[in-house]
Amino acid sequence: MTTLRPQPRPGVLDIAPYVPGKSSAPGVDKVYKLSSNETPLGPSRHALAAYQAVGAHLEDYPDGAATDLRVAIGKRYGLDPERIICGAGSDDLLNLIARVYLADGDEAIHTTHGFLVYPIATLGTGARPVVAAEKNLTADIDTILAAVTKRTKVVFLANPNNPTGTYVPFDEVKRLRRDLPPHILLVLDAAYAEYVTRNDYESGIELVATTDNTVMCRTFSKIHGLAALRLGWMYGPAHIIDAINRVRGPFNVNAPAIAAGVAAMEDTAHAEMASAFNAKWLAWLTDEIGKLGLEVTPSVANFLLIHFPPAKGKTAAEANAFLMRRGLILRQVGAYHLPDALRMSVGSEEANRLVVDALREFLGQTA
Ligand SMILES: *Cc1c(COP(=O)(O)O)cnc(C)c1O
Repeated sequence: MTTLRPQPRPGVLDIAPYVPGKSSAPGVDKVYKLSSNETPLGPSRHALAAYQAVGAHLEDYPDGAATDLRVAIGKRYGLDPERIICGAGSDDLLNLIARVYLADGDEAIHTTHGFLVYPIATLGTGARPVVAAEKNLTADIDTILAAVTKRTKVVFLANPNNPTGTYVPFDEVKRLRRDLPPHILLVLDAAYAEYVTRNDYESGIELVATTDNTVMCRTFSKIHGLAALRLGWMYGPAHIIDAINRVRGPFNVNAPAIAAGVAAMEDTAHAEMASAFNAKWLAWLTDEIGKLGLEVTPSVANFLLIHFPPAKGKTAAEANAFLMRRGLILRQVGAYHLPDALRMSVGSEEANRLVVDALREFLGQTA
């Protein structure tokens, strides 16, 4: 009988739906949400004001081309606005990339602990996600290159990666581009670029500017604190921007998001403050959690991965339950093939101190 009803295209029912970070803990009033890499500092107050001002004109369609926003981004980074496209979060753009460049039978490569949106977007087109193994919880260029077949059309690389917090130095990203066949699209997802303070890191702007087959995706959800508005952007070669513009929703970015995004781009002081705050507390958390005897993967982003090897007798699931009872909501990352780890977003000073104290108590140690 089931053949007599509409059937999704092959691949769709293989998708494991994305499960967002939890935002409440049963029976706990005050919670600290450290499960979705949101900023504890909120957005720029100018962004908030711009967002609110649009509320007086909700009857008007937004500018479908998001021109003011593309101009503001171009100005901030020295880019041609014609080569920028905006989306309802970078999720929107990643899915559009898959829709435009993948079809039945094609393959798209991502790495073992890569962002879950890549296999979801790939399967949605009927293409096959191919997983390239990582080394030391870090994307490995040689393994990615070895995974290439005649069917490969796209390579997705989150740099830095979520949920590991590790990154690939720019020299290695350039080597990847150089050794990938030119018809393969390299997608650099730099959602956390603004947090990285390493000299050997580059978000991808240079590669996009100098090649015909590389795009870079960015988001307003993380350092800019506008996750609720769903806003992202992509920089790419003109021919790719043109193709994606043909299939995107004509008004895929809403008017409050455009207004807030422009103000956020212009408020460089807010972003600098957020980056400095993160650098301080990321280092503090890495240090303090390390002192408790827990392994922390060195992170360059606004979150960290804490390991609970079962051999030590205290599991990640137990730690998660213990923290939840105190209103400290971290992220279980079993779906990322990391069942023995928890991911923690860098939170407010209060939240960060509470997590360290709770972990100490969980491990049965005294301060
Ligand atoms: C958070 C995140 C994004 C941003 O997604 P939005 O849809 O822009 O909110 C993109 N890529 C990675 C790897 C992320 O962790």
